[in-house]
Amino acid sequence: MSKTLQAIRGMNDILPEQTPAWRYLERTLADLLDSYGYREIRLPILEFTELFARGIGEGTDVVDKEMYTFLDRNEESLTLRPEGTAGCVRAVLEHGMTGGGQVQKLWYAGPMFRYEKPQKGRYRQFHQIGVEVFNLPGPDIDAELIVLTWRLWKKLGLGDAVTLQLNSLGSSEARVAYRDALVAYLQERFDRLDEDSQRRMTTNPLRILDSKVPETQALLVDAPRLHDYLDAESVAHFEGLKARLDAVGIRYEINQKLVRGLDYYSRTAFEWVTDKLGSQGTVCGGGRYDGLITQFGGKPTPGVGFAMGVERLVLLLETLDLVPAELSAPAHAYICAFGEPAELAALALAEQLRDAVPGLRMLVNSGAGSFKSQFKKADKSGARFALILGEDELANRVVGFKPLRDDSEQQNIAWDALAERLAACIDQA
Ligand code: ATP
Ligand code: MG
Repeated sequence: MSKTLQAIRGMNDILPEQTPAWRYLERTLADLLDSYGYREIRLPILEFTELFARGIGEGTDVVDKEMYTFLDRNEESLTLRPEGTAGCVRAVLEHGMTGGGQVQKLWYAGPMFRYEKPQKGRYRQFHQIGVEVFNLPGPDIDAELIVLTWRLWKKLGLGDAVTLQLNSLGSSEARVAYRDALVAYLQERFDRLDEDSQRRMTTNPLRILDSKVPETQALLVDAPRLHDYLDAESVAHFEGLKARLDAVGIRYEINQKLVRGLDYYSRTAFEWVTDKLGSQGTVCGGGRYDGLITQFGGKPTPGVGFAMGVERLVLLLETLDLVPAELSAPAHAYICAFGEPAELAALALAEQLRDAVPGLRMLVNSGAGSFKSQFKKADKSGARFALILGEDELANRVVGFKPLRDDSEQQNIAWDALAERLAACIDQA
């Protein structure tokens, strides 16, 4: 017997029970982004491998270990996007959207792919909603992005469940100086570093700062501190950002070890973190990447953005029971019809009612069936009313209007009075 086919490990089906929470999150965020004047951009899932190698950088976990890369039939190396920023930058350059200092405020949503060890909150296909802003160099826009996410948490009821971690990575020169100091310090303690961190000494030493290994963290207690190396302009930028967050009343914790996984950040870096999801606690991360666009051959163009993990946010909403119940609300009405003439009339009637009653959720029985079986299906659907249409009802142009959720009596209602009756029921709900 052939083996039952299964989904690829770490790539999940999102089942009908879960999609209301997804749509709730997606819709809330899309509306919010609209209201702040951000425009949606839709990008391909596949890009040339080189885009990510150049844009994210060799020496990062994402590029070195996590990409799904393959040769297509034309022997070109393609990669399933592991994140959205690189593709977005490619698109704005390709379409000349940032030329002449044009400001762009963009957002995107969709699946990302990383070959990671699947666990709760960490998958191989996962979804992000991301925002990228181009040609705004100041701390005001960094603040706007954080304010916007903060408003999202409040809207979703997550305000108390997440905290903001904030850092400045300085200019790239400042970071080079800091990196040298950090490497010199760690070189003397090389033997005591964990294996991953030893490897990172040559590939991406700043990443050692967020090592999860306790012994490595202990070694870092007396390490040089990033903020002692910041250039004056970055310090001023950071002060400007903090002043704006203070003005709105957003609390933050400064975390000098927050360097983020991707290499192209400069100055502002931030993460929204929750302690409710175990070790996969970062639900949103972002920062400034003023150097990235030149890496793609574009003119120097300031960029700043963030991405949030949809699975983790959905998990958080579910964990805290914050998904509004009405999102998976059952139908208002279920039409049962007996015999072909009644079925035809029911279908036409249903369409008239859909025209006449905005927001009406109505099921029309399919598959015919006895009175008993149709009634059972109506009941099981969770609908509030069954509309019954048999030979007699058809002849009299009425339906039997039967409440399914309380004991009130069934009544006959004329077809042309039905819309009004149903509309009244919806208003009450
Ligand atoms: P982490 O430290 O958790 O691996 P990261 O720094 O690799 O995160 P980013 O590249 O900044 O993550 O992606 C932004 C957000 O996307 C993360 O904060 C997280 O919410 C989500 N995310 C990243 N990788 C995964 C994954 N494999 N599965 C589910 N969500 C993810
Ligand atoms: Mg990661």
